[in-house]
Amino acid sequence: MKRLPQALGIRARLWLAAALPAVLVTLALLWLFMDRHERNLAEAVADRVRANALQMASAAEFGLFVGDRQNLQRQVNQLFESAPELLGVAVIPADGQYRVVAGKLPAQLPPFSDEVITEFGDVLTVSVPVHYTAIQMDDPFALTPALRAGMAPRGLAGQVVVIYDLDKLRGQRRDLLIWAVLVTAGALGLASILSALMASSVTRPMASVSKVVEQIGLGHLHERADVEAAGPLASLSRGINAMASRIAMTQEDLRQQVAAATRELRLQKEAAEQAARIDALTGVASRRAFTERAELEIQRALRYSQPLSVVMVDLDRFKRVNDTYGHAVGDAVLVSFAQALMHEVREVDMVGRLGGEEFAVLLPGIEGQEAVRVAERMRQAVEARALTVGGQALHFTASFGVADFDGVDVNLPGLLARADSALYQAKHTGRNRVVYADDTLPAFEDTRPA
Ligand code: GH3
Ligand code: MG
Ligand code: MG
Repeated sequence: MKRLPQALGIRARLWLAAALPAVLVTLALLWLFMDRHERNLAEAVADRVRANALQMASAAEFGLFVGDRQNLQRQVNQLFESAPELLGVAVIPADGQYRVVAGKLPAQLPPFSDEVITEFGDVLTVSVPVHYTAIQMDDPFALTPALRAGMAPRGLAGQVVVIYDLDKLRGQRRDLLIWAVLVTAGALGLASILSALMASSVTRPMASVSKVVEQIGLGHLHERADVEAAGPLASLSRGINAMASRIAMTQEDLRQQVAAATRELRLQKEAAEQAARIDALTGVASRRAFTERAELEIQRALRYSQPLSVVMVDLDRFKRVNDTYGHAVGDAVLVSFAQALMHEVREVDMVGRLGGEEFAVLLPGIEGQEAVRVAERMRQAVEARALTVGGQALHFTASFGVADFDGVDVNLPGLLARADSALYQAKHTGRNRVVYADDTLPAFEDTRPA
């Protein structure tokens, strides 16, 4: 089977499916009806005309026998006037001596003796022979000499010819056909309208459901199909609505999960960043935080020509503490040491752990000599501290190297290097002391005694 063209919409297909069988059945019925009716009508007319002719033949028998032309004429006239479709009626004796005619006769008469029915154009001609019938009579002398001479049981007396106009019949047929066509067209029109209504009762909800599905596909998850108006597609609409709700719920759920995960991630990132800025063991600033702040303070000191000092601090012989008491005690010493440093500085100062047991203190707004005093205070505070380990007091000391911002070494590494030199000097000259990095200080050289 050939496929229906793509362009043919669902509505047209439904209409075709509903109306086409009706159209075909109606046309077939119409054809059958017309064919049957036409044949019946033609047969009925022929039968009727033949019956008329036979009746006439039987009635004319006596007239022909006695040669009563007047009576025959009356009978012929009577038949001729009985139906307007009759074009002519004639009785003709066998010897052809005369003709009794009403209306007209065809030029060529059918032969005698046989019953002949011919249809030519719009004219139906029926010719029946008239036979004498033998009659039982009491008085044989009552017979006419003619009868007596040619008496035969079924002698041919003559012929009755009836001519019928079929034009009217054809007209009737035409009218009938027109009516039948009109009725059929009406029925088909009605069928079309009904099937169109039926088709649209399916296609309308289908179109609306399709539109909703399309919208949902585009991400408009709040779209819903109208279940009330969906008719035969109500359960489909309900299913689609449920699906859309489920998708919307899942999407909302996902959105919330993503939001929660993002929030969690941000908190973790902030916590990690915060952790990266604070040393986990001692609670002072990390190397990174210290460096950033120091860079900032250097820029500020430069711009406003303010003093700035840095103190490098290193625990003395810390390795021994670890080696003697273990790493945990070493950690506790580190914590206590850092607290001692923190305790001695201002809010604006910053203590940072640069690594291991090496710390640095940033003192904004403080010049060298004052920084030396602060360092000395810190040194004393460290020295004054003690941890109780195994019932015994554990003391520890630290060495300090001080450098101030001279406007020459404008970067942090330079400043730190000078402080470091001072620190190493402190280590070199006996530890537990503060050394200021003035111009007399030799260039950095790691000559710390073990
Ligand atoms: P100096 O007086 O010359 O500074 O001697 P020192 O022993 O302190 O110097 P050194 O650099 O040789 O040793 C530093 C030690 O610090 C080595 C290492 O085991 C220890 N250390 C570094 N970081 C930590 C830490 O976080 N915890 C502990 N317990 N020890 C640490
Ligand atoms: Mg040390
Ligand atoms: Mg060290």
